[in-house]
Amino acid sequence: HASTKPPPTPSPLRSAKFFQANMRILVTGGAGFIGSHLVDKLMENEKNEVIVADNYFTGSKDNLKKWIGHPRFELIRHDVTEPLLIEVDQIYHLACPASPIFYKYNPVKTIKTNVIGTLNMLGLAKRVGARILLTSTSEVYGDPLIHPQDESYWGNVNPIGVRSCYDEGKRVAETLMFDYHRQHGIEIRIARIFNTYGPRMNIDDGRVVSNFIAQAIRSEPLTVQAPGTQTRSFCYVSDMVDGLIRLMEGDNTGPINIGNPGEFTMLELAETVKELINPGVEIIMVENTPDDPRQRKPDITKAKELLSWEPKIKLRDGLPLMEDDFRTRLEVPRKN
Ligand code: NAD
Ligand code: UDP
Ligand code: UDP
Repeated sequence: HASTKPPPTPSPLRSAKFFQANMRILVTGGAGFIGSHLVDKLMENEKNEVIVADNYFTGSKDNLKKWIGHPRFELIRHDVTEPLLIEVDQIYHLACPASPIFYKYNPVKTIKTNVIGTLNMLGLAKRVGARILLTSTSEVYGDPLIHPQDESYWGNVNPIGVRSCYDEGKRVAETLMFDYHRQHGIEIRIARIFNTYGPRMNIDDGRVVSNFIAQAIRSEPLTVQAPGTQTRSFCYVSDMVDGLIRLMEGDNTGPINIGNPGEFTMLELAETVKELINPGVEIIMVENTPDDPRQRKPDITKAKELLSWEPKIKLRDGLPLMEDDFRTRLEVPRKN
């Protein structure tokens, strides 16, 4: 049976370096929001060498500026839809635009990134014997018919909708991961990420947390999309990075949900941002977009049991940590 094949031996190039006991890690999409925080954490370990491959579609060199020139760090302008020939031990495969306005901008490119990009990273993992982690998404559950969502739920996804390039793209990426695992013995890890927030989020990506923080800082009304009773669960980025590293280092393929189960309505979120960032700001109700999921909350039982992971940072504590970064980028200094 294919599934009993032993994992492939590492490439000779990496084997020669084995006794150095260092770990060479590729982070695709490492110039993005989550990727750059992951790089910060990986770089803290002096045994890690980190290579970022990114095409800068939604990411920026600015997010990595403190590492550029560091001897254990390398940054490559590279599009994952093209083959990549390097020697690494681990691959964190994050490359993919994450917010609807960016992934809908060029949906064909989004699906190529998910399908061909993941295929290429799996081909690379196979060639060099690397372990590969995919950042999948809660969107694979689509408009879920069960709540909260655990990993055994197969989802309720529209195959021909405007979000399909992203959610069906990630579903195919998960399929490819498991097929390479079963057919070629590749070591895989799949994280299903739920809404994540923190410094370095794109300011103009239309996501609710970045919108509200930017609006509060500019003293513009916070735009709650009707009805405002819809819920989301927000995970602070350092908790997310911690979960991804535990998943990579552990023994479970996943898929494993990683997110914060604390659930808030969008009105509650607006009230909290107002209170913490700018008590003088107004909250207004605006029209919503079609197909907005009514509720979303991760079931993280598996992450707790298998990774001994759970988020530590509460929303009220995480939101203020974004203020300085957003003020700098928006060029709105604090008043006092
Ligand atoms: P992001 O847009 O900040 O980062 C994505 C990075 O990938 C960017 O630096 C972008 O330039 C790069 N990229 C895009 N297409 C590429 C390509 N073809 N080749 C090379 N690089 C490419 O998004 P993020 O929020 O940091 O998300 C990272 C990953 O986590 C994504 O895979 C996303 O689907 C997943 N995810 C994020 C969230 C969230 O709430 N942020 C939720 C679920 C899943
Ligand atoms: N690939 C890559 N880097 C590598 C090895 C492969 O980008 O180091 C790409 C390769 O171009 C191919 C894909 O990964 O398109 C899948 O590779 P695999 O060897 O599984 O399939 P094949 O090349 O036999 O189609
Ligand atoms: N939302 C909002 N105001 C905004 C942007 C978004 O009330 O300015 C709402 C949106 O209707 C949705 C929720 O916030 O119910 C989360 O939207 P986001 O796009 O951040 O994430 P996703 O829908 O992908 O979870």
